[in-house]
Amino acid sequence: MTTNAISQHISALKGVPSQPTAASVRPVVKPGYRLVPALVGRSTDPGTVVYVECPVWCTVDHVADRSVFLEDINHQGAPEVLALPSDHPARVPVEAYLSWWPASHDDTAGEPCLSVDIDSEVMVYGRTAALAVADQLAAFAENVRRLAESLPADKPSRSQADEALRRVRGEAV
Ligand SMILES: [Zn+2]
Repeated sequence: MTTNAISQHISALKGVPSQPTAASVRPVVKPGYRLVPALVGRSTDPGTVVYVECPVWCTVDHVADRSVFLEDINHQGAPEVLALPSDHPARVPVEAYLSWWPASHDDTAGEPCLSVDIDSEVMVYGRTAALAVADQLAAFAENVRRLAESLPADKPSRSQADEALRRVRGEAV
Protein backbone atom coordinates (compact mmCIF):
# COMPACT_ATOMS: atom_id res chain seq x y z
CA MET A 1 0.00 0.00 0.00
CA THR A 2 1.06 3.54 -0.65
CA THR A 3 0.78 4.58 3.00
CA ASN A 4 3.00 1.68 4.02
CA ALA A 5 5.58 2.63 1.41
CA ILE A 6 5.72 6.17 2.76
CA SER A 7 6.01 4.89 6.34
CA GLN A 8 8.89 2.70 5.27
CA HIS A 9 10.63 5.69 3.71
CA ILE A 10 10.14 7.73 6.87
CA SER A 11 11.53 4.97 9.06
CA ALA A 12 14.47 4.60 6.66
CA LEU A 13 15.11 8.36 6.97
CA LYS A 14 15.32 8.01 10.75
CA GLY A 15 18.63 6.19 10.20
CA VAL A 16 20.06 9.27 8.47
CA PRO A 17 21.86 11.58 10.91
CA SER A 18 20.08 14.90 11.27
CA GLN A 19 21.57 17.48 8.93
CA PRO A 20 23.09 20.65 10.36
CA THR A 21 20.87 23.66 10.07
CA ALA A 22 22.00 26.76 8.19
CA ALA A 23 22.75 28.51 11.49
CA SER A 24 25.09 25.81 12.75
CA VAL A 25 27.18 25.70 9.54
CA ARG A 26 27.72 29.47 9.49
CA PRO A 27 31.50 29.79 9.27
CA VAL A 28 33.34 31.20 12.25
CA VAL A 29 35.30 34.25 11.18
CA LYS A 30 38.51 35.08 13.03
CA PRO A 31 38.65 38.40 14.89
CA GLY A 32 39.88 41.09 12.52
CA TYR A 33 38.25 39.44 9.51
CA ARG A 34 34.81 39.53 7.93
CA LEU A 35 33.07 37.57 5.21
CA VAL A 36 32.71 39.56 2.01
CA PRO A 37 31.30 38.68 -1.40
CA ALA A 38 33.85 38.12 -4.18
CA LEU A 39 33.12 37.68 -7.86
CA VAL A 40 35.07 34.85 -9.49
CA GLY A 41 35.22 33.87 -13.15
CA ARG A 42 36.38 35.02 -16.55
CA SER A 43 35.20 38.46 -17.63
CA THR A 44 33.21 36.77 -20.45
CA ASP A 45 31.24 34.72 -17.90
CA PRO A 46 28.55 36.02 -15.54
CA GLY A 47 30.86 34.81 -12.75
CA THR A 48 30.12 33.25 -9.39
CA VAL A 49 29.77 35.13 -6.14
CA VAL A 50 31.58 33.42 -3.29
CA TYR A 51 32.12 34.61 0.27
CA VAL A 52 35.72 34.93 1.37
CA GLU A 53 37.43 35.83 4.62
CA CYS A 54 38.71 39.38 4.21
CA PRO A 55 40.83 41.28 6.76
CA VAL A 56 39.26 44.47 8.13
CA TRP A 57 42.15 46.54 6.73
CA CYS A 58 41.39 45.40 3.18
CA THR A 59 40.06 48.15 0.92
CA VAL A 60 39.55 45.97 -2.18
CA ASP A 61 36.02 45.62 -3.57
CA HIS A 62 36.23 41.91 -4.40
CA VAL A 63 33.06 42.08 -6.52
CA ALA A 64 34.13 45.05 -8.66
CA ASP A 65 37.70 43.73 -8.82
CA ARG A 66 36.84 40.22 -10.04
CA SER A 67 39.34 37.36 -9.99
CA VAL A 68 39.44 34.64 -12.64
CA PHE A 69 40.20 31.98 -10.03
CA LEU A 70 39.47 31.81 -6.31
CA GLU A 71 43.23 31.43 -5.71
CA ASP A 72 43.83 34.81 -7.38
CA ILE A 73 41.92 36.76 -4.74
CA ASN A 74 44.29 38.97 -2.79
CA HIS A 75 43.65 41.53 -0.11
CA GLN A 76 45.23 44.95 0.03
CA GLY A 77 45.13 47.79 2.53
CA ALA A 78 45.23 51.53 1.99
CA PRO A 79 48.78 52.57 0.99
CA GLU A 80 51.04 54.85 2.94
CA VAL A 81 52.53 57.04 0.24
CA LEU A 82 55.88 58.81 0.24
CA ALA A 83 55.28 61.93 -1.85
CA LEU A 84 58.79 62.80 -2.96
CA PRO A 85 58.56 65.25 -5.84
CA SER A 86 60.75 63.89 -8.60
CA ASP A 87 60.73 63.59 -12.35
CA HIS A 88 62.99 60.57 -12.05
CA PRO A 89 62.11 57.02 -11.07
CA ALA A 90 62.18 56.71 -7.31
CA ARG A 91 64.83 54.58 -5.64
CA VAL A 92 63.18 54.68 -2.26
CA PRO A 93 59.90 53.08 -1.18
CA VAL A 94 57.03 55.12 -2.54
CA GLU A 95 54.15 53.04 -1.19
CA ALA A 96 53.73 50.57 1.63
CA TYR A 97 50.52 48.69 2.29
CA LEU A 98 49.21 45.54 3.90
CA SER A 99 48.43 42.68 1.54
CA TRP A 100 47.38 39.08 1.75
CA TRP A 101 47.32 36.36 -0.87
CA PRO A 102 45.55 33.52 0.99
CA ALA A 103 46.43 30.98 -1.74
CA SER A 104 50.12 31.94 -1.89
CA HIS A 105 52.71 29.23 -1.34
CA ASP A 106 55.80 31.45 -1.45
CA ASP A 107 57.81 32.96 1.41
CA THR A 108 54.80 34.57 3.03
CA ALA A 109 53.04 31.16 3.11
CA GLY A 110 49.64 32.73 2.67
CA GLU A 111 49.97 35.07 5.65
CA PRO A 112 49.25 38.82 5.60
CA CYS A 113 52.41 40.79 4.83
CA LEU A 114 53.69 44.29 4.18
CA SER A 115 54.08 45.15 0.50
CA VAL A 116 56.67 47.82 -0.20
CA ASP A 117 56.62 49.36 -3.65
CA ILE A 118 60.09 50.49 -4.64
CA ASP A 119 60.14 52.02 -8.08
CA SER A 120 57.27 49.73 -9.19
CA GLU A 121 59.07 46.66 -7.83
CA VAL A 122 57.01 45.29 -4.98
CA MET A 123 58.75 43.49 -2.13
CA VAL A 124 56.79 41.65 0.54
CA TYR A 125 57.83 41.25 4.16
CA GLY A 126 56.56 39.36 7.18
CA ARG A 127 56.21 41.14 10.52
CA THR A 128 59.85 40.96 11.69
CA ALA A 129 61.29 41.97 8.34
CA ALA A 130 58.63 44.70 7.95
CA LEU A 131 59.61 46.16 11.33
CA ALA A 132 63.25 46.12 10.18
CA VAL A 133 62.22 48.01 7.03
CA ALA A 134 60.36 50.55 9.18
CA ASP A 135 63.46 50.98 11.40
CA GLN A 136 65.62 51.54 8.33
CA LEU A 137 63.21 54.15 6.99
CA ALA A 138 63.06 55.90 10.38
CA ALA A 139 66.87 55.97 10.51
CA PHE A 140 66.96 57.26 6.93
CA ALA A 141 64.44 59.98 7.77
CA GLU A 142 66.53 60.99 10.81
CA ASN A 143 69.62 61.25 8.61
CA VAL A 144 67.75 63.33 6.02
CA ARG A 145 66.57 65.61 8.85
CA ARG A 146 70.15 65.94 10.15
CA LEU A 147 71.36 66.91 6.67
CA ALA A 148 68.44 69.32 6.22
CA GLU A 149 69.09 70.95 9.57
CA SER A 150 72.72 71.52 8.60
CA LEU A 151 71.59 73.70 5.69
CA PRO A 152 71.74 77.48 5.96
CA ALA A 153 68.45 79.24 6.66
CA ASP A 154 66.27 79.93 3.61
CA LYS A 155 66.57 83.35 2.09
CA PRO A 156 63.20 85.08 1.74
CA SER A 157 63.52 85.17 -2.06
CA ARG A 158 63.99 81.44 -2.59
CA SER A 159 60.75 80.86 -4.44
CA GLN A 160 61.99 77.51 -5.82
CA ALA A 161 62.37 76.21 -2.27
CA ASP A 162 58.90 77.44 -1.39
CA GLU A 163 57.50 75.62 -4.38
CA ALA A 164 59.32 72.41 -3.42
CA LEU A 165 58.06 72.76 0.14
CA ARG A 166 54.51 73.11 -1.03
CA ARG A 167 54.95 70.04 -3.26
CA VAL A 168 56.39 67.96 -0.42
CA ARG A 169 53.48 69.00 1.78
CA GLY A 170 51.08 67.99 -0.98
CA GLU A 171 49.71 71.50 -1.38
CA ALA A 172 48.64 72.89 -4.73
CA VAL A 173 51.52 74.59 -6.51
ZN1 LIG B 1 39.83 41.70 0.97
